[in-house]
Amino acid sequence: MQDADLLAEAEAARGFAHAPYSRFQVGAALLCADGSVQRGCNVENASYPAGICAERTAISAAVARGQRRFLAIAIAGPPGVALAPCGICRQVMSEFSPDGALRVIARDAAGAPRATTIGALLPGAFGAADLDAAR
Ligand SMILES: [Zn+2]
Repeated sequence: MQDADLLAEAEAARGFAHAPYSRFQVGAALLCADGSVQRGCNVENASYPAGICAERTAISAAVARGQRRFLAIAIAGPPGVALAPCGICRQVMSEFSPDGALRVIARDAAGAPRATTIGALLPGAFGAADLDAAR
């Protein structure tokens, strides 16, 4: 699947965002290793910390369907915004990509697609190996 196609899936998912507080709607599309795509959107809550980002809803939905290996995630936000995943989402992405290879695709402020990896976004990530080292 091309980056533009995955971004289009993320943009479609953005339309389902529940963001009545921030009005900052975000969609995500996660390409699983089996070729399937799982969509996610941010889901806010009146109790603000209970909200969850689009990236994590996509990952959670994919895991609930038995997926554990992911190739890429596209995220889409409001036009004109250079979107980047928050720290919590970076940590969750890293959980499923301990080698850092997961591609993260978003648009820059001019709307051009740009891709990086979770390894570049979260160097030195805490992971299962750190827990194992303490046992
Ligand atoms: Zn996030």
